[in-house]
Amino acid sequence: MSAVRTLSPPLAALLELTHRCPLQCPYCSNPLELERAKGELSTAEWMRVLDEASELGILQVHFSGGEPAVRRDLPDLVAHARKAGLYSNLITSGVTLDQPRLTKLAEAGLDHVQLSMQDVDHQTAAYIANYPGVQGKKLAFARAVREVGLPLTINAVINRHNITRVERMIDLAVSLGAGRVEVAHAQYYGWAIRNRAALMPTLAQVQEATGRVEAARERLRGQIVIDYVLPDYYARQPKACMGGWGRQFLNITPSGEVLPCHAAQTIPGLTFESVRHRPLADIWARSEAFETFRGTDWMPEPCRGCDQREVDWGGCRCQALAITGNAAATDPACALSSAHDALRALADTASSEPPPDFVYRRMSPQDSKAALATTTG
Ligand code: SF4
Ligand code: SF4
Repeated sequence: MSAVRTLSPPLAALLELTHRCPLQCPYCSNPLELERAKGELSTAEWMRVLDEASELGILQVHFSGGEPAVRRDLPDLVAHARKAGLYSNLITSGVTLDQPRLTKLAEAGLDHVQLSMQDVDHQTAAYIANYPGVQGKKLAFARAVREVGLPLTINAVINRHNITRVERMIDLAVSLGAGRVEVAHAQYYGWAIRNRAALMPTLAQVQEATGRVEAARERLRGQIVIDYVLPDYYARQPKACMGGWGRQFLNITPSGEVLPCHAAQTIPGLTFESVRHRPLADIWARSEAFETFRGTDWMPEPCRGCDQREVDWGGCRCQALAITGNAAATDPACALSSAHDALRALADTASSEPPPDFVYRRMSPQDSKAALATTTG
């Protein structure tokens, strides 16, 4: 039976409404080449995408970015998602939404909010986001989320600057009334790979943080769900990236290109199709980019003969490319990969030196000004 006939619909779609963002996190998963506002899908185009997503059988949409709230049509898109029967989650930096706008989103049918957090320490948070006063704004936003009655997840991105405060970040999430906290080490794609040396903790720091997360899980059982994502560079088996290429998720860029994962555009030779030119269901089922690494037929050894091949699906194609130069190689996070020792050596070298300055995530200065004007206007 062909892959197309046995293919299930994706569970969720990540909609990158825009790459504009007032923050400049050095681990941002957006591509180094950020898309400009003028190329973004229009309101009508995003509404059509939501309808197509629903028809395809997608259950959940994540409104993401950049900062999705810089789009003035966000309440209309949320309302349209609700009308289309989609569960909607807003992934936000929390610095641009005041209580009235948040209330409007809740009234439009928003189901859930996911707030990113740089640190509990205000000074370090401002340094990481390159945004003075960021933590105060996030705390106010988190309280507003709970006041309007929306469920909240805190997403804490761990790196060498905040790793000693992992427990305090979990406790902060509890005190803010979050139902879930994702403690995720920075994943080294996009801007994070550019900032690898500035972000990478040592193995000893990761081990200590892991112990603290496990202890917090015991201590806070029944109060909050704690998800923990280890850094691949210190792992022995890769994660099932996106639940497997083209199996559960799709990602749509601001201009409408449909990707199997947010970093897939780094892979040369793949052509990504746009919702502007082809129906979403057709892209999901038949486009070359989704078919290339779907399933297990593409796998080389040792993945091909490995009993874990339908557990981790060979790991991450973008990481294989970034480290080995070959997107079809076994993910070097796997101990069976011939590049595994080289990956660990990169982490050890990066984390043993004093951290260099961040290369902040930036559009051109002109675009950054436009993003802020839209935000505050
Ligand atoms: S990671 Fe930071 S810079 Fe990137 S979109 Fe999120 S808040 Fe903005
Ligand atoms: S060899 Fe491939 S399938 Fe097996 S554990 Fe490693 S990455 Fe996973």
